[in-house]
Amino acid sequence: MPYVKTGGILLLLLSGSLSATEPWNDLDAQIQRALPGVIALRHAIHQQPELGNREVLTSQRIAQRLRELGLEVQTGIAHTGVVGILRGGRPGPVVAIRAELDALPLTEQTGLPYASTVRSKDEGNDLRSRGKDIGVMHACGHDAHMAMALGVAEVLAAHREQLPGTLKLIFQPAEEGPPLGESGGARLMIEQGVLQNPAPQVIFGIHVTAGTAGTFTLSRQRTTAAADTFVARISGRQTHAAFPWTGIDPVPVAAQVILAWQTIPSRQSNLSLLPAPVISVGRIEGGERHNIIPAEVRLEGSIRTVSDEQREDVLQRMTRTAEKIAEASGAKAQVEYLPGGYRAGYNDTALVDRMLPVLQQVSTTPVRIDNGTYGADDFAEYARQIPGLFMRMGVTPKSLEGGPVWPTHSPGFQVDDPSLAVGIRALSRMTLSYMGNSKNP
Ligand SMILES: [Zn+2]
Ligand SMILES: [Zn+2]
Repeated sequence: MPYVKTGGILLLLLSGSLSATEPWNDLDAQIQRALPGVIALRHAIHQQPELGNREVLTSQRIAQRLRELGLEVQTGIAHTGVVGILRGGRPGPVVAIRAELDALPLTEQTGLPYASTVRSKDEGNDLRSRGKDIGVMHACGHDAHMAMALGVAEVLAAHREQLPGTLKLIFQPAEEGPPLGESGGARLMIEQGVLQNPAPQVIFGIHVTAGTAGTFTLSRQRTTAAADTFVARISGRQTHAAFPWTGIDPVPVAAQVILAWQTIPSRQSNLSLLPAPVISVGRIEGGERHNIIPAEVRLEGSIRTVSDEQREDVLQRMTRTAEKIAEASGAKAQVEYLPGGYRAGYNDTALVDRMLPVLQQVSTTPVRIDNGTYGADDFAEYARQIPGLFMRMGVTPKSLEGGPVWPTHSPGFQVDDPSLAVGIRALSRMTLSYMGNSKNP
């Protein structure tokens, strides 16, 4: 539902108060002046993407830029994480903005002049791709997030004496997950004290997404889903395909399990209480030859749930379903959930309601309110500690509109550069508004 009707009333109040404040009423002009530099920086980061916990050059680049802007800089947090602190000249709250440093193991196919040609060894938790040489790409748009955060630092640092509070910029490694056997991401940043000294009162984050450039979408409550990866092994007994009764065939058992899992969302979840969970089998593997019944079938996939309780419940039901169906045929099923799953993320409703008029004012199109996405993000971890606001911003370049959709995590994902200004404006205005400088209600 678009946030238009009530937004109109608040909009008038806000624009009145903004024009009365100095020096932020020339913020838009400042952002436009900073934009070429911000874009150039994004392209440079885009050309040199690095995988999770290996963001060494990216981290150096960010730290250097923060120092140039006169911020206090901390490095080496949760491996390669960087924090920049901008202490305003006037007392006020601490506001955090989070950006991510890592790219994805994916070979870019955008054909852009600044496309990545970087290759690396995949160190993820998928055994088949692990160790393989693969392209690396900022296919989740984290290059845009870094550039926008640095843009905010630049425009707010320009008048730091007037800033009524402290801005804490958190540049986090390994949002897409650390290499196998390592820890990392938001949880490790929090363990290593990123929400202390100074402790932020609130945290903001933007994630770019395929969609109309400059359009914001956010939820008043749940914003991202929990994501878990599963590996199920259905074991039978190998035999000749002509005499199946002499063995135990795991193939039809696997087929039954896959279909039965779909009755968890459709038949076993109370849809009047919560949105349905999503269970997707992304990979099936089994067998050697057309006339041999295999000993094992392996199923791999992703589970998306919308609350901690639903997550627990769905994992239990999936295990029980697989085990009992296998047992009925004399086969065995073992379901494993890989470590490093994401928890569901929630926006702070009061914070959303307070920031909506600000967003509506900076946005060129109506702000959209929805019930959250089935995508996952470890921003959820910060927002479980302090009030958080996480929103998506469309960044599809005009030149790609009407063509095939290239979402994040695809080799053709592109970011509309002028939209970075909209993101910087939103983050700066929300920060100033929260700090009280814009006399926002
Ligand atoms: Zn991603
Ligand atoms: Zn991402």
